[in-house]
Amino acid sequence: MTSIREIPREEYLLPGTAACPGCGFTIGLRMALKALGPKVIMVVPAGCTSIIQSPYPYVSIGVPLLNIAFAAAASTASGIAAALEYKGDKETTVLVWAGDGGTADIGIQALSGAAERGDDFIYVCYDNEAYMNTGIQRSGATPFGAWTTTTWTGKREFKKDVPMIMAAHRIPYVATASIAYPIDFYDKLKKAKTYRGLKYLHLHAPCPPGWKIPTDKTVEIAKLAVETGLWPLYEIENGEFRLTGISKMLLDKKRRKPVEQYIKVQGRFSSMTDDDIKILQKWVDEQWETYAQLAKTK
Ligand code: SF4
Repeated sequence: MTSIREIPREEYLLPGTAACPGCGFTIGLRMALKALGPKVIMVVPAGCTSIIQSPYPYVSIGVPLLNIAFAAAASTASGIAAALEYKGDKETTVLVWAGDGGTADIGIQALSGAAERGDDFIYVCYDNEAYMNTGIQRSGATPFGAWTTTTWTGKREFKKDVPMIMAAHRIPYVATASIAYPIDFYDKLKKAKTYRGLKYLHLHAPCPPGWKIPTDKTVEIAKLAVETGLWPLYEIENGEFRLTGISKMLLDKKRRKPVEQYIKVQGRFSSMTDDDIKILQKWVDEQWETYAQLAKTK
């Protein structure tokens, strides 16, 4: 694992973004650009990142960036990657930086097509678990029990498993990450960069207004998601599944904190009953049985 001293001092996410205080994904974006920059072309579909770049004519991202429609991020990245290949440019990385709405729902067709063709770029989904930019509507990645403005008594469906959908495309590299473990994310991006083809990383990133949490609790709550097993950290490298970081220890159920600890500190889960929490705990435990099987299959 990279030591904190080895992280580049250069900043490509500049001060003065228009992000809300305590925004989780900006921690991830800062690390992503340190891992990949400065030879990066970013593609950003509609979402919070389109806004936090700062209002025109100011800018807070220090690499070239193309804003694009919700559905078109992956196909646009495919085109840029093809143009770079035609020019013989092997140094520049194409990075899609998309929210969960733009990935799990609206953008998944273009993403699937690019994966099937093996187009050469890195796709990061920063998952704040709803359409935050347009006013906190439910997405396919919103978890069971969560309030949004379109699930105001709590969502009844479970979160769509986009990393595993991407793994089913047999792309060379798939990983999950959390903004609470930025060096794990940094290392995964560095590794992703060594592969040709489509690389997919799914970054869990709390959103204080959407999750109804205090602005100084972002990292603590992101960490709880991992510690309770609700958000496992893993990578799938050439088809080989491996838990990473603290998640390696959490195969032992006794070491996972109860999901209730994560649920009770967020206003978005306030309508969940004790029975709902039991349903969610059961779902998490079942997910881990699958991870245990995958970890054994080498
Ligand atoms: S709405 Fe949430 S995800 Fe969007 S900028 Fe604000 S804190 Fe970040």
